[in-house]
Amino acid sequence: MAAQLNREWTGIQQFPPATQTKLLELLGKLLQENVNALTILVMGKGGVGKSSTVNSILGERAAAVSAFQSEVLRPMIYSRTRSGFTLNIIDTPGLVEGGYVNEHALEIIKRFLLNRTIDVLLFVDRLDAYRVDNLDRQVIKAITDSFGKGIWQRGVVVLTHAQLSPPDGLNYDDFFTKRTEALLKVVRLGARIKKQEFQDSAIPVVLVENSGRCKTNDSGEKILPDGTAWIPSLLKTITGVVSNGSKAILVDMKLIEGPNPNERGKFLIPFILAFQYFFIVKRIQGAIKDDITKEGKPLWELRDMGLAKRKF
Ligand code: GDP
Ligand code: MG
Repeated sequence: MAAQLNREWTGIQQFPPATQTKLLELLGKLLQENVNALTILVMGKGGVGKSSTVNSILGERAAAVSAFQSEVLRPMIYSRTRSGFTLNIIDTPGLVEGGYVNEHALEIIKRFLLNRTIDVLLFVDRLDAYRVDNLDRQVIKAITDSFGKGIWQRGVVVLTHAQLSPPDGLNYDDFFTKRTEALLKVVRLGARIKKQEFQDSAIPVVLVENSGRCKTNDSGEKILPDGTAWIPSLLKTITGVVSNGSKAILVDMKLIEGPNPNERGKFLIPFILAFQYFFIVKRIQGAIKDDITKEGKPLWELRDMGLAKRKF
């Protein structure tokens, strides 16, 4: 098990006072609602900015960031306490290797999460990716198969590299809308969520810019191209998800080893097959035999088919 790094959340002091005030206000609200701890699980493909986002939220360089594929396969939990509130962020290794979902990495993540409760899932990807493909769908399917569909009700889509200039002279908002629509569609398909169900409980999408070159406002807060201070905005979305009425995900043995949470009922398959055999196939066979008998074939022919008694 990875080391649990539980410390005072000093990184918060690295933020400009305006950001600190907003963050402490949000934590205060949670404490008022008797929520004194949050566990955030960060998942996504490799290199999309998961570890950087963890560091941005904590206000310190806790997680190792790499421009190249990292070989670390184990998840890490960073716990920080501030005014009686504990923030746990779990950074995970990328789920994709050699064009496939790395089942081994997924298994390690699941074991690591045993007996923990996931309050929020940050599903991280890049804003500046121009297409979604089957691999994205596989990653989302793997998350759904591991933790159940319900995890998406606790999900936030985080798009990094938000400070971009869209290609082909596209307007930023149009680019964002197109990218978001494409990605959310893949989430819906990968998570097997019905269209209506999906529209009823929309998954929030948050923009993030982890780069040291992120623009700042007059108060020194890191801002998005539209001027939003994104760190408090991300935390606000996270607290919104926590109080949206859905259930947090408890990762227990049943979830890890039991049947796939979305395919419970699989044990019925042998019974259904047996039912089909005895009540459908047998009946049809009987009917066919009857038909053949009634056709009034010559006795020798029926005898050859084994349908008439031999009389010697
Ligand atoms: P992970 O593999 O998903 O944990 O990704 P990392 O956090 O290690 O980031 C991969 C690379 O992308 C590193 O070189 C980061 O500096 C860079 N990076 C991450 N987030 C951003 C971002 O929002 N903007 C920019 N410009 N670079 C980013
Ligand atoms: Mg990482």
